[in-house]
Amino acid sequence: MSVNIPRGTQDILPGQSEKWQYIESIAKDVCRRYHYKEIRTPIFEHTELFKRSVGDTTDIVQKEMYTFEDRGERSLTLRPEGTAAVVRSFVENKMFGHPDQPVKLFYTGPMFRYERPQAGRYRQFVQFGVEAIGSEDPAIDAEVIALVMDIYKAAGLQKLNLVINSLGDADSRNAHREALIGHFEPRIEEFCSDCQTRLQQNPLRILDCKKDRNHELMQTAPSILDYLNEESKVYFEKVTGYLDAIGVSYTVDPKLVRGLDYYNHTAFEVMSEAEGFGAITTLCGGGRYNGLVQQLGGPESPGIGFAFSIERFIAAMEAEGVEWPIDQGIDCFVVALGDAAKDRSVSLVHELRTAGLSADRDYQDRKMKAQLKASDRQHARFTAILGEDELAENRITLKDMAAGSQDQVPLNELAGYIKTKMEAK
Ligand code: AMP
Repeated sequence: MSVNIPRGTQDILPGQSEKWQYIESIAKDVCRRYHYKEIRTPIFEHTELFKRSVGDTTDIVQKEMYTFEDRGERSLTLRPEGTAAVVRSFVENKMFGHPDQPVKLFYTGPMFRYERPQAGRYRQFVQFGVEAIGSEDPAIDAEVIALVMDIYKAAGLQKLNLVINSLGDADSRNAHREALIGHFEPRIEEFCSDCQTRLQQNPLRILDCKKDRNHELMQTAPSILDYLNEESKVYFEKVTGYLDAIGVSYTVDPKLVRGLDYYNHTAFEVMSEAEGFGAITTLCGGGRYNGLVQQLGGPESPGIGFAFSIERFIAAMEAEGVEWPIDQGIDCFVVALGDAAKDRSVSLVHELRTAGLSADRDYQDRKMKAQLKASDRQHARFTAILGEDELAENRITLKDMAAGSQDQVPLNELAGYIKTKMEAK
């Protein structure tokens, strides 16, 4: 009996994996330009970390974590998101002591959430994320937002909507919280049981509820923007002002609240507006988290970051019909005929590879015609044919597949010859 892949996960096969590498390389290159450096943290952490950072009342912590006990009876959890671990590492490695603040980091890797799988929602998915920790300059909010928009732009995505909002500082959030309780409390029994719990614990998250989103009280709920104190208002205006200055367009949506507890001030999401994109249109989520470093035992060190999944990035590329500039082909396929030529082709492909070219050959003892077909299937730029005659004369027949031309090349000059031709292109 065969064993199948777990629900909500996927195999990324050759043909697809190149798309992943492509997106990752674009994202890393944009990070290089913005001067963000890579951090790699473990895939599992102490469960406590996520309870304390993501928040005890969030769906992630209450319903979605892959938590297990190891043989030493520690409770560990496969990371459901990246920020908590990055902040833990920031504190643990005393990065707050570095003279250059903020510390600007990016990460990529698999995240795990026990969610109901559907298009664009997996139980294991790969996030690419950025965190800038150690500055409360609104310019860094604009920088982080510009960075993610630049990644999308570099990949060729156009049908995007950047939605931003301010959740304000603690005072503003408290005032808004009271207003929300006053608004929902009289009719809270009309809401789902989760929302009833949220009312006292974290009423902001009622606005995020998927079940009750069409309830009339949702439309009339007090807007956070009306409860921002002067400082928070000025902060938000600075952020949007900087975005205007660098030509990043956005929509302000006062209903945008983020699912995790640790956000304040700037919150943002990038949505795909491509036709045919599935029901879940959020490509990226991010925001500011000023209290998180302290919450995890560090000094006051305000941060901001975002994360997107490569899965939804690829789905958006497909929905917009963006070309993948991916070369699936190899530089040279060596066709060898007869035992002596086959033996020689072992060192020949090795010479090509050592010279930096991608090269392959036949390993199934196929006839000439089948080897030529294989070369075609593998989109070889050149096909090198080595028969008994060629071998005796120390030369090789080289077909330029694009030009349709053919040359005789000295055997020991093959790699150099191909490289010169490729550079001339
Ligand atoms: P979050 O950490 O929930 O704010 O998610 C940030 C981004 O990660 C989202 O905008 C999605 O691009 C992606 N994402 C979150 N959950 C999933 C999932 N289950 N499957 C695929 N992508 C996801």
